[in-house]
Parts: sequence; structure tokens; C-alpha cells
Amino acid sequence: MNRRKLIIVVTSFLMVLSMSACAKPVSNVDVPEVVSIDPQYINTVLDTLISEEFTGRLPGTDGNKKAEEFLQSEMETIGLSAPEFASSYLHGFDLLVPLKQKVTEFELVDVDGAVVQKFDFGDDFTEYIARDFAMGIGEFQGAYTIVDDPFVVGKVDEMTEDDIWVFSRNATASSSYDAFFKSVLNSDRKPKVIIYESDQLNNDHFILSPYTGLMQHNDNENGVLIYRVSPGAFQMIKDADQKFLKVSTAADVKTVEVSNVVGMIDGKSDHGYVISAHFDHLGDNLDGTVNYGALDNASGVSAMMALAEAMVRDGEQELDYYFIAFNGEEEGLHGSTAFVRDNFLDVDKFKIINMDMLGSNTPIEFEISATHPQSTELSQWIFENAKEYGINAITSNIGASDHFPFEQAGFAAVTLIEFDKRFYHTPYDTKDASIDLEHLADLTQFVFELLQ
Ligand SMILES: [Zn+2]
Repeated sequence: MNRRKLIIVVTSFLMVLSMSACAKPVSNVDVPEVVSIDPQYINTVLDTLISEEFTGRLPGTDGNKKAEEFLQSEMETIGLSAPEFASSYLHGFDLLVPLKQKVTEFELVDVDGAVVQKFDFGDDFTEYIARDFAMGIGEFQGAYTIVDDPFVVGKVDEMTEDDIWVFSRNATASSSYDAFFKSVLNSDRKPKVIIYESDQLNNDHFILSPYTGLMQHNDNENGVLIYRVSPGAFQMIKDADQKFLKVSTAADVKTVEVSNVVGMIDGKSDHGYVISAHFDHLGDNLDGTVNYGALDNASGVSAMMALAEAMVRDGEQELDYYFIAFNGEEEGLHGSTAFVRDNFLDVDKFKIINMDMLGSNTPIEFEISATHPQSTELSQWIFENAKEYGINAITSNIGASDHFPFEQAGFAAVTLIEFDKRFYHTPYDTKDASIDLEHLADLTQFVFELLQ
């Protein structure tokens, strides 16, 4: 699940809930033998994706490459074919990504530079590097000024000589962060470091996001170092006797080549479904914690692979099925965007069912999410069948996952999601904390029966 696109709720289109004439519940009556999803296989794929070796699957790292290779080999093992456009199951694309070199440092110091308080990455602060106006790399030490009143550009001249500006929530409340940063950075007198108070924490940990849609490069001439601090850390900074801070971020922002992993079942007809799930996640925090992304989205990938395995076992299929493990989703839906851009599939022949965050161990609604009118019929069909199956389903219009680029290109496409925010985009999203395997297997079985 991609945080940036979630915040921009993409369209105000209202899902028309009760108008689809084609919606027809799956009937069990004339299906004598239903193949069962293998829950053990779900567990195996899940455990592998969240293993230490894969280190959170961040694009551009060894862990991501290993996940690619694992899925490639699994697709071959379970008997999926490699499509013509991805002869070794890999569809490559380029991605600009910030690769951190060390954990970011953020300290209160005294006038001589001695450390007064060392803050914890994740709990107390995070860096903010993935934007066109932010520096990905650098360090700075100096005096700071607290800005508590709502900030307006006209006030810039009144600022002190200090090069670090620390903004309270009150100071930034009146505008969006983008507008706020731009107003600061377009002024004649701009700081070297911006720090702002933020309460975007889950389970007392900052929600991490590598969104890179607007990122350019490391050595951004006009960029400044930007950090978010928790309300608790802000208070300590505000109350400090000697107001000096020392910050240091080391990230390598570079273009890497990564791949989506694609396998298929060539059915009797020339149309069918894309079943997809992103396998990338947020990687290693380099502070001893790793973002394992069990729910987001090892869960969806293991469901997709188990679905593929069951379909191969089921024998010849009427329709074509493409199974795509997307890469680069967390940075801004890059894998699905590249796939759609390369134009492999006919918009009139394929529908997309994307799975992102499924099998949560807390009671939560099963959302069928889509944003464009052409997806309504598909969404409604899944919704009615899910109700029939006994699932607590709702429809919603979030564009924050890999269905969205398909919708923009005219495909009917949905994401199935249980958006459990408890550990979302923190190192706490682990199998034990987030996942109910039996529930995940049940949802996978539902999708399997839906497609029969
Ligand atoms: Zn995510």
C-alpha cells in the first residue's frame, strides 16, 4: 500500500453500488469438486518473503533482488509459463530510489558540540528525502529557531540568523506540507535545515514512506535537509537550554534496474484476468530494525502464488491468467506503471484483481477498491460474491495501489485490501503481529472460487 497516493484521494467518483446487471453470485451447486488452496504453500511463500535474508525487499537492495529470484523460481516450479514479453518471468524497469548509507543522526548539542540528547530514528524523528525540494544527503550543525505561529512567507525577513528552523504543528497547520515547504524554499532567506513536528505515528513509530514521485537526485542545489520530529521530541527541542542541533543524513539516490515477476496460465480464450500483488517493501532502517512488511505485502504475494498453484493443479483453464508480482509499489506504483506503459495487454480483454494487505488478524473490513467508472461492474461482482461467501466486504475508492495505473489506462481494475493501520509502514508489521494465516487462506480460497 502506497501512502502518498492514499493521501491524495484520487477522485470523488462515487461507486454506484446497486446498478450492475451482470453481478451474479458464484454458485456452488454445479461445481462438484472445488480445488482447495494449499495453506502450507501460503505459509512457505510468506515466511520466505519476510525472512532476514530478504531484509524488507527495498528496490535496489540485495533483498529485493533475492525476492525477485525466489518468485521467478517459484513461478517456474509451480508450473506457470513465462509470457512472451517476459521470457524469463522478469519484466525490467528503471527506478530512482534513495538508498540509505547509515542510520540518520539527529542530536541536541551544546554550544561546544557535545551531545545533550541523541534522538531515536523512527520513534523520535525521520528524515524526509524523497522530494524535489529535499536534500538526500548532508550534515549540518548549528543554532535553531522555534517557529510556533502559523508561518507565512512575509515573516521570513523577521527570522533570526539561525540556519535551522523548527516548526510546531501550529506553525504548519494552515497549509499543506508541500505548499509550506515551497513557501519557505522560494523565499530569499531560506534555512539549511527544516524540522517540523508531526504526529503521523503508528504504534509510536513514524509511518515510513519512500515515495519518490517528485525526487530528482542527491545534490539538489536548492534542496534543504528536512526532518519530521514527534511531539515529544519537539517539546524537548523547544525546552532545551542551549539551542543547537546536529543532523546527518547519508543516502545514495540513484537509478536502479529492478523487475516485476510475471507468470501466466494460457487458457482456451484470449482474454482473462491479471492477478497481482506488490512484493517490494521499505527495507532495512540500519538501526537494528527492518521493515518486514508481512501484511504489506508478503500477504498478498503469498495469496497470489497459492492461487496460481491451485489453478495449475485445477487443470486447463477457460481464461488466460497473468500473475504479476509488482516491484517499486511503495515508491509510487512504479512497477505497475511501467507494466501498463509497455502496453502488453489489451484493455478490452483483461481485468485486474490486485491484492494488497490481506489476512489481517484483527477484525477489519475487506475493501474492494477502485476509482474509475469502468471498474464498477467488476467491483460490484466481487462485492456481491464476497457477501455471499460470508466476508465482511465493502467497496471504496482508494487509488493507493497497483490497480490504479491500470484504471488510468482504461482497464477495469480493483485492489482487494484489509487496510489494517496498526503497524502500517513500521518495523512492527510482522507475521506474529499482523497475520491470521487461516483467514488469509480463506480469502485466497474465495478469490479462487470467484474465478471458477
Ligand atoms: Zn505499503
